[in-house]
Amino acid sequence: MYYSMKTNRDKYTVCKNCVMDTSDSLLKFDENGICDYCQNFNKNIKFQLEDLSKSRHELEQIVKKIKSRKNNKYDCLIGISGGVDSCFLAHFVKKELNLNPLVVHVDTGWNSIESVNNIEKIIDGLNLDLETIVIPWNEMRDLQLAFFKAQHPNLDIPQDHAIFSSLYQYAVKHKIGYILNGGNFSTECIREPLEWAYHASDVRHIKDIHKKYGKIKLNAFPLCDIFTYKIYFRFFKNLKVLQPLNYVDYNKKNAMEQLKNLYGWMKYEHKHYESRFTKFYEGYWLLKKFGYDKRKAHFSSLILTNQMTREEAMEKLDYYPIADDEINNEFNFISQKLDISESKLKLIMQEKNKSFKDYKSSYFIIQFFVKLLRILKLESRLIR
Ligand SMILES: [Zn+2]
Repeated sequence: MYYSMKTNRDKYTVCKNCVMDTSDSLLKFDENGICDYCQNFNKNIKFQLEDLSKSRHELEQIVKKIKSRKNNKYDCLIGISGGVDSCFLAHFVKKELNLNPLVVHVDTGWNSIESVNNIEKIIDGLNLDLETIVIPWNEMRDLQLAFFKAQHPNLDIPQDHAIFSSLYQYAVKHKIGYILNGGNFSTECIREPLEWAYHASDVRHIKDIHKKYGKIKLNAFPLCDIFTYKIYFRFFKNLKVLQPLNYVDYNKKNAMEQLKNLYGWMKYEHKHYESRFTKFYEGYWLLKKFGYDKRKAHFSSLILTNQMTREEAMEKLDYYPIADDEINNEFNFISQKLDISESKLKLIMQEKNKSFKDYKSSYFIIQFFVKLLRILKLESRLIR
């Protein structure tokens, strides 16, 4: 594929170890030019990835506990998007941990051909049960358009929120005590700054934006506040959420190769691009309009875990992830699907950018809890 459009990276100062730069306005450097994400990785995450024999033992103990629960046909619930992490997790949980998961796919209306193919191949290949939850399209569309009109940098809050709240609510309703997800340090040890990607779990924030810019009522759209699932679901409904890929040597390239060979899994261009919307939003909108390139966090995670070189990442970051001759097609597809004209979408793109701070939120309370979790060593990533 021919990438002709150059990104404008020269105005930022780049970390000397990873590829995060001052397009994250809160990025701090030490005297050697190393950013606070790298410092946090060295201090709080690296040792966990180096001591995998201990982790593997811990995971086996957890699996024993899961298996000892006999009250459900399924041992656990797994969400699947068709992306590498969730597909590999399904394989790992069934083949290596010998658990019987119920796989749930939340259809937000934006599945790519690759994601549909991948889900089908994994479910058939592993002989798993699949439940698909379809988000009502009129409400999904209305909330997404509200975020566009709000000039919000994180246009993926509606999709992300719909996915995880559907999974949590489903697990609680059907009394499945464990949710296993594909989250992992290996490809996500650097979390994008909140300036680029504000919490998708803040219902107060979602409601404020929808109240200002939404047109129809959200009746069936699943809303689940961070406090509900972190406190009520955890302590009163006994729902536990685990990330098994953090207990093993998870390597993205190897995982993709294995999935391809075993199940005919199809590769897609970049992390999260299994959603047509996310491809457009992260690959073009967010980068062109706000100057935020999420690949910097993704690549930096791979650099820190020795899965990519810094040079390789720098080379890729010089160009847009979507080729310029593809952009028109993407605009056309997205505006048709959202049922607004292409010219209206382009007008929205030209209007003034806003930040999550321009809307009501539970930012201070959530950050208080994040700090608490970090003090208790239950959260190792830097979230700010
Ligand atoms: Zn760094």
